[in-house]
Amino acid sequence: MKTTGMKTLLRQTTLQLAVLLVLTSAAAAAPLEIFVSIPPQKWLSEKIGGELVSTNVLVVRGQDPHTFEPTPRQISSLARSRLYFTIGMEFEQQITQKLDGTVASMRMVDTTATIDRIPAIAHEQEEGHDVHVSHAADGHGEEPEKPAGQEEHERHAHHHPGDDPHVWLSPPNLIRMAKVMAEAMIAADPEHAATYRQNLNQTTDSLTQLHRDIATMLAPFRGASFYVFHPSFGYFAREYGLRQEAVEISGKSPTPKQISNLIAKAKEDKVRIIFVQPQFDSKSATAVARAIGGVVEPLDALAGDIPANLRTMALQIKNALDHSPRTQP
Ligand SMILES: [Zn+2]
Repeated sequence: MKTTGMKTLLRQTTLQLAVLLVLTSAAAAAPLEIFVSIPPQKWLSEKIGGELVSTNVLVVRGQDPHTFEPTPRQISSLARSRLYFTIGMEFEQQITQKLDGTVASMRMVDTTATIDRIPAIAHEQEEGHDVHVSHAADGHGEEPEKPAGQEEHERHAHHHPGDDPHVWLSPPNLIRMAKVMAEAMIAADPEHAATYRQNLNQTTDSLTQLHRDIATMLAPFRGASFYVFHPSFGYFAREYGLRQEAVEISGKSPTPKQISNLIAKAKEDKVRIIFVQPQFDSKSATAVARAIGGVVEPLDALAGDIPANLRTMALQIKNALDHSPRTQP
């Protein structure tokens, strides 16, 4: 009797243990390990992957993505991940070189593949005309043709070696990136395809709404200029028919002469606010702001909660333009 009882108990315990093990392994099914370059991509990746993914970001708060260099530790965990979503930042090329041939299971996916990129920021201004004007943002995405000779010069002179990399500051671009990410997640984890698709649809809907809201908010200011330190807002400007004027020139702080030219231009444009990202030294922006009797406003292009950030950005730009009667063409 006793022995049978023990056996039954033992059998039950074994069964419970087995059930427990199955449950544990199901609950702890390893999330898809993902790497992204910058915080806004992490927001997107988490929106689409939810609890199915674990997203690591290379450039953290306060770091300048243009001068960023990944640590050896980051490179080795990147090599062990399943997906790396690139966005076209300079340091990604270093990573590609370092990983070359050593990674079997990790897939690099260019999230900007379907985005109509803005060509390298025009900075072919001759001496004397130093104001760094980014692309004519007419809202149609049309860029003036560059003379053939300047193409090569630009590639070497500017800190953005290729196209304007600040693609994430535009809801339509975010929608395109989300789709590329969802497809890559589905390919890596087909079992959860339905979830990824559902999340993609929700994300697309909310970004579409965001785009409508910002377009409405900024519609009265079409053709107006806003002043920034670092030219991160080319796509944002193009999307909403605005122009960004940058204090920084070719990735460098302006010379005193360039600053005085910019002050003259800002006075002419009746600008009162210059937006500055916390990642950059704002001394020259502060000098310009002081000279025009204006202020420097923080605006973080790399903030993680991208919809909240884009709304704030639109609101700040709207307020800045509301208070600066623009010169009619
Ligand atoms: Zn930048």
